[in-house]
Amino acid sequence: MDTKRCTGCSRCLPLESFPNAGKRGKEPTCFMCTNDARRLRTPLPAIKRDPALIRINNTFNLWHGPVSRTPLRIAA
Ligand SMILES: [Zn+2]
Repeated sequence: MDTKRCTGCSRCLPLESFPNAGKRGKEPTCFMCTNDARRLRTPLPAIKRDPALIRINNTFNLWHGPVSRTPLRIAA
């Protein structure tokens, strides 16, 4: 079984773990490294707006009232 060292993770892997690169034979990085690079390039999808979550966040963030420049003076 032929193995090849990946340039990304420097593991010795069988040739089946490397994507084909047309006439050049095989890519220098394995499938796992290629997938990692693809995932890093792809932005995360936008989060869908959830009214219940917005209400919970507003309740939490405004529990003690809106933010004020003057410090809270609970003691004294
Ligand atoms: Zn790799």
